[in-house]
Amino acid sequence: MALSANGVTIECIQGDITRQDDVDAVVNAANAELMSGGGVAGAIHRAAGSALAEECKPLAPIKPGEAVITGAHNMPNQYVIHVLGPVYGVDEPAATLLASCYREALDLAESKGLRSIAFPAISTGAFGYPMDHAADVASRTVLAKSAELESVELIRWVLFSEEDREVHQRIFDLMFNA
Ligand code: ADP
Repeated sequence: MALSANGVTIECIQGDITRQDDVDAVVNAANAELMSGGGVAGAIHRAAGSALAEECKPLAPIKPGEAVITGAHNMPNQYVIHVLGPVYGVDEPAATLLASCYREALDLAESKGLRSIAFPAISTGAFGYPMDHAADVASRTVLAKSAELESVELIRWVLFSEEDREVHQRIFDLMFNA
């Protein structure tokens, strides 16, 4: 079920981040070099085509907690926003860096006047961030940020498995109804 805060709709759905045809921007759980790889980055680079890597080259490397924006090339969206999540147990403080990814991505979406954005569960794959802790950071950050959003009116979390979606839905429900 969708949630709402300060006029912003927040959804947690099960799906594939490369198949979100109705949102203006999708977020890439990138690596520092902004190259293709496993997980989300591999799926986005495959869907966008090789021109995405070309556009990314001069923007790399990025640091944990940072975000950069590019075109979406062959993907159905206007933009891809690339963020580098913290490697759990290595990049510290992890929660601050993960929150920064969500905030910086939303700031870039606002700077382009976008209305909708879809996030994967940043850092929860190869980077090892526990799913429930990551969902807690994500929900806290978006709730705090929602009051200052002017153009963004839909924020979607796209979770790869139904189990991950349920974790997010439960934690977002608790945060938004507190
Ligand atoms: P990170 O390196 O930041 O941990 P990953 O891409 O390894 O990023 O994984 C982040 C999360 O995205 C994981 O929970 C993983 O299951 C999920 N994921 C992988 N591929 C996709 C996809 N195509 N769409 C949505 N989520 C995905």
